Amino acid sequence: MSVDANAYHRLKAELDAQGVTLLAVSKTKPKEDIEALYQLGHRDFAENYVQELVEKQPLLPDDIRWHFIGHLQRNKVKYIASFCAMIQGVDSRSLLQEINKQAQKCGRVIDVLLQVHIASEETKFGLSNDEVFALLEQASLYPNVQIKGLMGMASFTDNTEQVRQEFLTLKSIFDRVNAQGPHNRLTVLSMGMSGDYRLAITCGSTMVRVGSLLFGARS
Ligand SMILES: *Cc1c(COP(=O)(O)O)cnc(C)c1O
Repeated sequence: MSVDANAYHRLKAELDAQGVTLLAVSKTKPKEDIEALYQLGHRDFAENYVQELVEKQPLLPDDIRWHFIGHLQRNKVKYIASFCAMIQGVDSRSLLQEINKQAQKCGRVIDVLLQVHIASEETKFGLSNDEVFALLEQASLYPNVQIKGLMGMASFTDNTEQVRQEFLTLKSIFDRVNAQGPHNRLTVLSMGMSGDYRLAITCGSTMVRVGSLLFGARS
């Protein structure tokens, strides 16, 4: 078994003490690893490929809360809309529209996070500051999605100061939205991974997405 129970309990206790949600990123890992963490009481798991998620989900307990954290193509929303607890990484209006449509077909309201582009790399997906505010203003057009918060991925760099600035940028957008009033109150700020979760928490993260620290390195 490649899940270290002591490491899990330590991390969970550290995050619980700070009111931060632990999302276990199980991508590329076999269902046995997910079951091992499930046996320890964990329920929040995340995947970033639709096909992999769709294959694993029926093999695992129904009370797992599955989060989708990858780049989601519109034509694939239909495969996960019936069971996905939260879709992070909503990076366009058209994707939000499609999630709303598929959620409606399933008679569900799906929680989502808007992904904000905070990294310096062009390759990372995400909305601009202005696009976030524009989408939130029109949230009532999408009654079958509930925008719970924001998600961001920092640059892939050893430059801690740069990563900190990127996290703080996301936190400031989050705070500005919430300062606007109760109509679009955001509660989830998803930022931080195995290598930078502590930094992310000092910058205001409420949910960290941790893979390799829990499951070991991915090949
Ligand atoms: C893979 C992944 C993670 C987890 O990365 P680790 O460094 O293994 O903790 C977090 N967020 C996203 C979006 C990912 O794709």
